[in-house]
Amino acid sequence: MSDILKALIEIVGERGVSNTPEELWFYSRDPGVLTPHLPDYVVAPRTTEEVQKIVLLANREKSPLVPMGNGMSLTGLVIPLKGGIVLDMKRMDKILEVNAMARYAVVEGGTSQGVLKAYLQEHYPQLRHSIPDAPPTTTIAANAALHGQGRLSQQYGFNSEMVTGMEVVLPTGEICLIGSPSLGPYWFSRGPTMPDLSALFLGWLGTTGIITKIGLRLYPNKKIRDVELFVTDRVDLIPDILYKLTHLEILEDVNVWFQPKPLMFQGNFHITLYFTGDTEEEITFKRRMI
Ligand SMILES: Cc1cc2nc3c(=O)[nH]c(=O)nc-3n(C[C@H](O)[C@H](O)[C@H](O)COP(=O)(O)OP(=O)(O)OC[C@H]3O[C@@H](n4cnc5c(N)ncnc54)[C@H](O)[C@@H]3O)c2cc1C
Repeated sequence: MSDILKALIEIVGERGVSNTPEELWFYSRDPGVLTPHLPDYVVAPRTTEEVQKIVLLANREKSPLVPMGNGMSLTGLVIPLKGGIVLDMKRMDKILEVNAMARYAVVEGGTSQGVLKAYLQEHYPQLRHSIPDAPPTTTIAANAALHGQGRLSQQYGFNSEMVTGMEVVLPTGEICLIGSPSLGPYWFSRGPTMPDLSALFLGWLGTTGIITKIGLRLYPNKKIRDVELFVTDRVDLIPDILYKLTHLEILEDVNVWFQPKPLMFQGNFHITLYFTGDTEEEITFKRRMI
């Protein structure tokens, strides 16, 4: 058994490490089109301290380290081009806190979109987060690390802009707290009285640190959701239409799409509008405005 394998087993236990070919095969690829490359080990920590120890080990052994959520980013981001260790975050999947009054949630770095959605539906049906159209098994921290977009992005920007705080393990193995959690127990904002250092990690695809905890803003989850679909063959009108629609500030989301096939879609630009309300009256009013 290699020294690295022994050390990894010491850190996370036997069931959290693998170097068997059939398991490495899965961690050598994503569902996109890029060429696979095998890692030497895959390890799945359960705690921040375990992540720290793995980072220190990788440093000591000069081994590449690739953090991975659900591996669904499709663009080769989690393919371990230089081998080394893939750090699978999926066992760090706890929801640590929901602060309903301040509208934020804090989750571990491997928590999936689906787990948070189901938790909120059961315990806080009045609240929601901005979910990408990706499979529900994809993780919240990874989506923030790649500046992902979700259902509320039309109103509130990239999902990474909705992050309220982070715990990150740096490449040195040190732990860094970003935002209000560095001052006290509350994860309400990432820049209350200090420079916002989150840009050192958000958008860096895990190359500057591993997010082990992440806070994110929650938004009202209205009781009724409705949709309207418009079609135009005048592409020149689309910017004006979008400007006016977004100026209303009442849409939950807007999606403009076109496709050449089947032929009935050719030359037609579809605008799908989603809007929500707590009462039929609110929905009717919004539909009329739109
Ligand atoms: C059908 C489909 C629809 C999609 N729709 C959308 C969409 O609407 N919006 C959208 O934004 N994306 C979309 N995607 C792309 C992608 O699935 C998402 O961005 C998803 O959030 C990626 O999450 P993941 O857990 O699979 O990330 P991974 O692929 O595992 O990782 C992505 C990146 O983050 C890094 N990383 C992972 N975990 C951490 C961590 N804890 N700390 C630091 N870095 C980390 C990885 O190293 C990698 O660079 C879609 C994909 C599919 C297949």
